Amino acid sequence: MTLGCALSGLVPNATDPARRTVAVMGTWLHAEVAAPGGPSASAALEAAIAEVERMDALLGTWDPSAPLSRANRAPVGTPTPVPAEAAALLAEARGWAARTGGAFEPALGALVDAWGLRGGGRIPDADELALALRRVGAGAVRVDPDAATLTRLQDGAWVDTGGFGKGAALRSAADTLRARGVSRAFLDLGGQVLVLAAPGEAPWRVAVAHPALRQDTATLLLLRDVSAATSGNSERGSSVGGTAVGHILDPRGGAPAPWWGSVTVVSADPFVADVLSTALYVLGPEAGLAWARDLPDVGVLFLVETSDGLEAVHNQAMERWLDAPPPSAGTSHSRPERRLP
Ligand code: ADP
Ligand code: MG
Repeated sequence: MTLGCALSGLVPNATDPARRTVAVMGTWLHAEVAAPGGPSASAALEAAIAEVERMDALLGTWDPSAPLSRANRAPVGTPTPVPAEAAALLAEARGWAARTGGAFEPALGALVDAWGLRGGGRIPDADELALALRRVGAGAVRVDPDAATLTRLQDGAWVDTGGFGKGAALRSAADTLRARGVSRAFLDLGGQVLVLAAPGEAPWRVAVAHPALRQDTATLLLLRDVSAATSGNSERGSSVGGTAVGHILDPRGGAPAPWWGSVTVVSADPFVADVLSTALYVLGPEAGLAWARDLPDVGVLFLVETSDGLEAVHNQAMERWLDAPPPSAGTSHSRPERRLP
């Protein structure tokens, strides 16, 4: 009998986890709360789901009536009030633009439009691309967290929260669960997971998919009290006239980041995991690993497709999360296995 069995709820008893799957943020949220058990687990589950739905409404840029959608359409040069929480998260996200050398940049709406990423994809000509690039980054949009305003500084400029919205939502959901005394939970929001497991509880076993063969498991992670986000450019990438147009853009040169595999980031802060998975995909395995090598608390795993197969490289902080090779005794198989894309 392993610890994992009893605590993960595989044994039917009064502490069975509460589970629910809902459509939110343009994807699926699968949520499972295993403690404190009974009715309070259900209440905590509903509160966590409500929190993700609240963040969707707060940060969404698809629904034309959402606050950020309105600000994204406001006249150039006019500070537009947005919810203070949205302004703070946008400012936090923009802070990562500088730290990642522009690899992560939420003010990149002009490029999203140029490549038609919200439609079927298109290829901009050189002039269009140059124009769009001038409408991206610090000179495109001003976020004032103190005044809680967003100001568009250029025609065609707008903020896209797609690179950090899921992380922001999972961070809020984690706070909600912890405030309710939950120590064990698993949330999967469109491929980014949040796992809570108190010291002494079994970790969650999470499978990282092969970046090209999504049904195959490339690596197994053993996670507790962290979030793991994976970014890759194949899943939602479309092809226009033979050119791959992936959904992750390189804001420095303006083109979709080329396909090379996937990167998985593990952090105690779901927001950081989300931001850095996108940023490190843009940087690519070499520059990305150099950038992430010495991060003390953030695990980074690159899965790189080579002519010889899949090459896995990771920083030192990732080592504590990598599952050991399966032991001869069958203990590891009794833990639930979840998947990252
Ligand atoms: P997913 O949304 O598939 O989990 P990511 O977390 O990597 O993947 O976010 C990709 C989304 O982020 C894109 O759909 C787009 O909305 C936005 N985005 C694309 N490129 C960048 C970038 N370089 N920096 C910030 N956001 C980006
Ligand atoms: Mg991201």
